[in-house]
Amino acid sequence: MALGEFDLIERYFSQIGESPSVRIGVGDDAAVLELPEGHVHLISTDTAVSGVHFLPDSQPDVIAYRAIMAAASDLAAMGAKPEGMLLALTLPEANADWLASFADGIRSASELTLLPLIGGDTTRGPLTITVTVMGSAPIGCYLTRSGARPGDRLCVSGTLGDAAAGLAILDRADTGIASAHVAFLKSRFNQPMARLALGRKLNGVATSAIDVSDGLLVDAGHLARSSGVGVIIDREAVPLSVALRAYADPAQTMEWALRGGDDYELLFTLPDQAEMPDDCIEIGRVSSGVGVRCDGVEKLTGYDHFER
Ligand code: ADP
Ligand code: MG
Repeated sequence: MALGEFDLIERYFSQIGESPSVRIGVGDDAAVLELPEGHVHLISTDTAVSGVHFLPDSQPDVIAYRAIMAAASDLAAMGAKPEGMLLALTLPEANADWLASFADGIRSASELTLLPLIGGDTTRGPLTITVTVMGSAPIGCYLTRSGARPGDRLCVSGTLGDAAAGLAILDRADTGIASAHVAFLKSRFNQPMARLALGRKLNGVATSAIDVSDGLLVDAGHLARSSGVGVIIDREAVPLSVALRAYADPAQTMEWALRGGDDYELLFTLPDQAEMPDDCIEIGRVSSGVGVRCDGVEKLTGYDHFER
């Protein structure tokens, strides 16, 4: 059965998630969000293009889920409360099975992030997904990249490099990773979890924050530049999962942990007296210099779309 644009929106994209702030969601010309007095909007958008951000034959639910988590992670990094999201979808064809799976991915990400789907756009063309997320915070009370001060501790949540290892497994048949760890690492790539609760907890406590989406070294560089400080990373302190610690090639493991993207953990700076949140660890210090220093590492790069 051929699906028209409006049937398709009605069937797959209405009624996903809810929030008290939403006055009007999918179905009108614009969504309406009402924030409590004294709050500001925090807004971010992220695009995922077939063949660039995911393989054309990826599972539709994974594509949708990852696109939403990548966008939601930016709200986490700012310490925002999730309010709603918009989804602009460009599709080569309206295939009911594909769309049903895609909508499942939206639904599970919406449940986990507490972001209701409040609108979007649907067009025909090469597969592209743009997710715009909206959050809120009290006026003047949100995390930024720019507040790190010399002497602050540099900290990170969770473990790093898992998603890059998971992608390596998905990309090629044999990475030599023990089979016991394969499912965990793949899930770290396919089902990341934006650190929204941690971001809100750090709001008002951390002096700066950024999410690790392009790789630790690169994202630490963004934070350092925005704050006008240097950061010193202790390579040995970078948290590794059991799966990565078990891997036989420590040089490759370090590459994944320092340069791999897509973990969506939070990198943040804490003043000395602040308590370290659960599941977070100190990996270095903020210095009065410039740029990122990490002993034993020369080229401080990660993923860059325009690098040649
Ligand atoms: P308009 O022509 O006024 O731009 P559309 O026909 O594009 O409106 O969309 C109708 C309604 O469906 C709007 O509320 C829009 O936000 C919503 N919508 C369209 N596509 C999507 C989508 N992929 N996901 C969620 N909502 C969507
Ligand atoms: Mg209109």
